[in-house]
Amino acid sequence: MTVSADYRCAACQGARAAFFGGREGYRYVECLQCGSLQLDPLPTAAFLAQQYAEVYSQACHCDNDPVLRDRIARPYYDAIIDGLEAQGGGGRVLDYGAGWGGMMQRLLDRGHRAEGVEPSDEMFAHCQSRGLHVLHGDIYHPELAGPFDGIVMSAVFEHLVGHEAWLARAASLLRPGGVFVSMQPTAPFGRFFGTALRLGIRGITLPKLHQTFCPPWHTVLFSLRGMDTIMARHGFQPLDVHRGPQALGPGLTGIAQRTLDTTNRAGWALLGKHWPGTICHIFVYQKA
Ligand SMILES: [Zn+2]
Repeated sequence: MTVSADYRCAACQGARAAFFGGREGYRYVECLQCGSLQLDPLPTAAFLAQQYAEVYSQACHCDNDPVLRDRIARPYYDAIIDGLEAQGGGGRVLDYGAGWGGMMQRLLDRGHRAEGVEPSDEMFAHCQSRGLHVLHGDIYHPELAGPFDGIVMSAVFEHLVGHEAWLARAASLLRPGGVFVSMQPTAPFGRFFGTALRLGIRGITLPKLHQTFCPPWHTVLFSLRGMDTIMARHGFQPLDVHRGPQALGPGLTGIAQRTLDTTNRAGWALLGKHWPGTICHIFVYQKA
């Protein structure tokens, strides 16, 4: 199986890729240059805009209960804001893909001026009902104006299409020296477990892997090198990479999550950011 004629790796812009696996009528391919995994073909921006506006909030990809989401995602929000503050990115902060508004509220609680953008009709309305300063739409919203001191994204960067235009616009919204923090699932986890659990047989349907292979929502799972490459093209210097925190729930799920967390702490100590058990990395970049 070959890749589409117009395939380009979103990360490194390489044209060589191999079929990695299919799921729900979509196919992920692996860049032979940087190791990023990407849907091929990528869904169109128009299709995704309609899906996010009308379907996403109840599509069982993100928690559809705002109260539950706030509680479960709190360690993520705090880790992202820690990464922002450690590099002096606080102040006026844009939460892109604000969801139900949990991270905006956390930013406010921690003394920042939070503004958000959210494409989902239902999530946007919920943010408004919380009194949050949020715009309905995407990065191209005409009322969205910089300069921001920081841009934060919690599990959003892996949802984008049209990365070049998106990052050009994001860079234009940040002040020079501004900080960009993204927590997102990355390619090493998907490649390692997507291969091991199928015994290397790429014709077998990809496992969902804790929402990792989740088309059409997850368009690109960037490799660490691929992430640095695309960010460098838009004038961002890498400052730091952290391990995304593990959510810790109650009951049996919680026991499994604690076991994974312990294993991942040890793995990270051994292999650092290249440990493949890390589902999400937190990337911190600075605009030159
Ligand atoms: Zn690539």
